[in-house]
Amino acid sequence: MAPLSHLLIAIVLALVAVSATAELKAHRVADDVYAIVGDLGNRSPENLGNNATFGVVITREGVVLIDPGGTYTGAQRLHEKIRSLTDRPVVRVVNTGGQDHRWLGNGYFQEQGASIVASQRAVEDQQARSQDQFFALNALVGAEGLQGTEPVVADTRFDETLAFELGGIRFEIHHVATAHTPGDAFVWLPGKRIVFTGDIVYTERMLGVIEVSNSRDWLEAFSAVAELNPEHVVPGHGAPTTLKRAREDTEDYLKFLRTAVGEHMDAGKDITTVGSIDQSAYARLLNFEQLAGRNAQKVFTELEWE
Ligand SMILES: [Zn+2]
Repeated sequence: MAPLSHLLIAIVLALVAVSATAELKAHRVADDVYAIVGDLGNRSPENLGNNATFGVVITREGVVLIDPGGTYTGAQRLHEKIRSLTDRPVVRVVNTGGQDHRWLGNGYFQEQGASIVASQRAVEDQQARSQDQFFALNALVGAEGLQGTEPVVADTRFDETLAFELGGIRFEIHHVATAHTPGDAFVWLPGKRIVFTGDIVYTERMLGVIEVSNSRDWLEAFSAVAELNPEHVVPGHGAPTTLKRAREDTEDYLKFLRTAVGEHMDAGKDITTVGSIDQSAYARLLNFEQLAGRNAQKVFTELEWE
């Protein structure tokens, strides 16, 4: 085969790979409950910032959407996916935290008539990091994908808990502690034993302990999720799963990391070498190479103050 056709085949394969990962996939969790699973990698022009998992609960009185997507255009794409499941309108959107994909699609859904709910701490975090998030999205998703996106925050806020009933389904939203971000909350459907965890649970891919995270308090938030003994866990990243898998990919990793970094410190070693501690037990998680070292450095700075 001529080199040119090799090149063309390579380009076609690359395009197929990109569109396959950027595609939103709907997973049925139970009757009228879906998880819409986005890209497990970073934000990109192809995924429009929808690199997370979103929740859809269809009630007689409309749809409750858990997290609106990472941009205005991303929210539009998410809405197209919701329309393939139901023709009922999205009437309420919950923001489960402060990351871009938990709130920057708010403006689009507000235009559709939805009310937006978030914890007070999540709103404060969103406002504090809004500029940084726009800057990062401009670089990663690009100006075209970011078009129309406005920093619209929730019109309904709560401190710790908010419960409501819609179309005969009871929703309970709980903010327990800082996890991946300061205002992280989970949504519990007691009648269905389904929990939407936002960024409190990551599966399949490695979680990120970022500047605003707290690994100790994150474990407390995780425990509150586990105490529900949910039948289905819809994580913030990854496909719908079990509590067992959530423990393996989030709780066990956080505990391991805190222990390993603590031992590194006890041995008198400093932060310059903490990135190289052996985390290969978790190399199965996607984004391991990019995040493992950074996670260790952040936990080191936390443990210095604990
Ligand atoms: Zn996230």
